[in-house]
Amino acid sequence: MTSPSTPRKPLPRLLVSALLIGLLLWVALRHPGESPNDPQLLQRESLMMGTLVSITVFLDGQTPRAKAEAVVTGLEQLLRQFERRWSAWGDGELGQINRTLATGKPASIPNPLKFLFAEAARASLLSEGRFDVRVGALVRLWGFDDASHYLQKPPPPAAIAQLRKAVANAKTLNADRYQANGIQLDFGAIAKGYAADLAMALLKKESLHNAIVNLGGNLRVSGRRGDRDWNIGIRHPRPDQGVRILASLKTHSDEAVLTSGDYERYFEFEGHRYHHILDPGTGEPAQGLQSVTVVCPEGAWADAASTALFVAGPQHWRDTAARMGIDQVMVVDAQGRVTVTRALAPRLQFAEGIQPVVVP
Ligand code: AMP
Ligand code: MG
Repeated sequence: MTSPSTPRKPLPRLLVSALLIGLLLWVALRHPGESPNDPQLLQRESLMMGTLVSITVFLDGQTPRAKAEAVVTGLEQLLRQFERRWSAWGDGELGQINRTLATGKPASIPNPLKFLFAEAARASLLSEGRFDVRVGALVRLWGFDDASHYLQKPPPPAAIAQLRKAVANAKTLNADRYQANGIQLDFGAIAKGYAADLAMALLKKESLHNAIVNLGGNLRVSGRRGDRDWNIGIRHPRPDQGVRILASLKTHSDEAVLTSGDYERYFEFEGHRYHHILDPGTGEPAQGLQSVTVVCPEGAWADAASTALFVAGPQHWRDTAARMGIDQVMVVDAQGRVTVTRALAPRLQFAEGIQPVVVP
């Protein structure tokens, strides 16, 4: 494994607790207007994949609560296995692939990983390299591989340049065998969306058709909440006392709502925010946007696209979206201006004072 050359300082415990409390508060706000005490709702929350995972099921009377509880418990176990499998630095399959790559030998991609490898390769191609799971060593260098590794200042430019060049020169990802010098793979920009897809598929298989799977603001939604639509809150990238939810989306269709933001993992140095979404072209945090929300049928694709569009920035997010086949997008730029596509605009209800620009 490539290890970063910059020393890391663990986050103080107090700060970690404060972040978790903040996350819990935010989750409490994620469905504005919905009462968590509704007896027909089953809601379960747990910390997984470095974020807060929340599963909400509307019990329509067909499935007894105890049966639904057991399904959700099974689902949580599935998500824990998934987390282990896709952790770039753990002891599961992807961690093993990264250890093999670090020795310079080829790594075979096990069958259960092939689909997401193929999707990641497709997303890289269509986004012209803006989405690229081969940035793993760069993510580590920047300290964004784990919340306890955040840096106090950016890593040395020479170290960034070396890893950026390794990405530029490495072989294209493929889903059978992969060999690439200096490359570590990180599926953090696509795995949560995929996990949400798998979770929703399992709920449906168990006849729980009305549900929300929320992995830290990355959602897969299905069906309705009884006789009304689900109401999804999309977080403001710079929340304050007045506005925490930027917009809300009513939905009854089967779809994914994914957001990439510069507020998820970051540190500040000399007044500048350094966040976790890296531009593979520069090896540094992508500039120009605060958040990108994508709505489309599949979580894995929406996840890859939200990251790709974030990297594409204010100038290129629209052509990147078109190439990736995405038409429902909302972006917030560095000045806090909100732009939304015509396909998504009529579905959103904006917080007071938010005046979005609507584009084709
Ligand atoms: P997301 O929140 O879905 O945008 O994913 C961000 C995470 O994906 C980061 O924490 C990194 O682990 C990883 N990542 C960062 N930059 C990229 C990129 N350009 N392409 C693919 N993955 C990335
Ligand atoms: Mg993503």
